[in-house]
Amino acid sequence: MEDGQDGQPIVAELESQMRLSSILLTAAWPGECLVCYVMRMLEFGCRGLGWTTRYRDEHAPHATALARRLGAMGAYCDCEIFLNAYEPNPVHFAQDEFGDVIEQPMPVCRGVRKNSVQPCGLWLRMRRY
Ligand SMILES: [Zn+2]
Ligand SMILES: [Zn+2]
Repeated sequence: MEDGQDGQPIVAELESQMRLSSILLTAAWPGECLVCYVMRMLEFGCRGLGWTTRYRDEHAPHATALARRLGAMGAYCDCEIFLNAYEPNPVHFAQDEFGDVIEQPMPVCRGVRKNSVQPCGLWLRMRRY
């Protein structure tokens, strides 16, 4: 009788667990907003709009205009979201003695509704001067 577990090579099992944990590591938390997610993922590097696109595909597949909307704000890749589009809301972030926001460790995402690509309350739309 096959029970489905005999003969499973340990290495293959380890590899599939590692693949699974790297998928979990780079997945958005339930209810996590786009901007908090991308902020977290930038630790792994900016790859164009790679993280933004992954979030959209998994959480808001109907937000087809997202890249265009970010581009209109001057964000053509994930890290530019934080240079040109959104900044930390100082109400929720710690500040140093000069009044500059300390981004790390990040406060926990305030959460957004499903299918939303809006940032949560931790982020403010950056003002252009
Ligand atoms: Zn970038
Ligand atoms: Zn958030």
